[in-house]
Amino acid sequence: MEQLKEKERVAYFMRRMYEQRLTTSTGGNISLKVGEKILITPSQTDKARMVAESIGSMTLNGRVLSHRFKASMENKMHLAIYHKRPDVKAIIHGHPIFATSFAICGKKVMTNLAGESRAILGEPVMADYKLMGTQELADVVAEASLRGNVILMENHGVITLGDTLVEAFDRIEVLEAAAKMTLITQMIGNPKELNAEELKEIDNLFE
Ligand code: 13P
Ligand code: ZN
Repeated sequence: MEQLKEKERVAYFMRRMYEQRLTTSTGGNISLKVGEKILITPSQTDKARMVAESIGSMTLNGRVLSHRFKASMENKMHLAIYHKRPDVKAIIHGHPIFATSFAICGKKVMTNLAGESRAILGEPVMADYKLMGTQELADVVAEASLRGNVILMENHGVITLGDTLVEAFDRIEVLEAAAKMTLITQMIGNPKELNAEELKEIDNLFE
């Protein structure tokens, strides 16, 4: 069967996202660009039980290629990002509780508390609220994707981009960890933030 290995990778990361509670049973979606097509998760199904056969394919113009397949309702958002960012190969969207709470409150997830957060996330960007599944949401998120690979979606969730599925997954996982650390360190009190020189040193590691 076509692209079974890549489809299994998409299914595997969707299962892993649910297992790590980075999304709910029917929430979230993942896509992977393979040549001139994308592989994408189906809409409103149990994301914890995805298998390779659950994953469908679409053209970059939005035509569904798989037989009897209902693509994620956010397929327009995924496609709009691939159009704006030809360097992106993998996209992960989820509703992790802590990072989404920061998106709801319009507060920044601090990425200057741990070296890993800075290295993996840089500076997350915000996208204004628009109704799920709409072209309006696709447009604001695609616009935000020009400013970064880690996007907080107001009153909705988060979306992370990468060159590979592992890179995009690492970003959503580290984002949720950074959101927890932001909240917990505020509760404990007086967190020591990395200074400008220390941040620059980290940035230079990956240039
Ligand atoms: P789908 O199941 O259609 O991918 O929708 C889930 C979601 O997170 C909508 O924003
Ligand atoms: Zn969503």
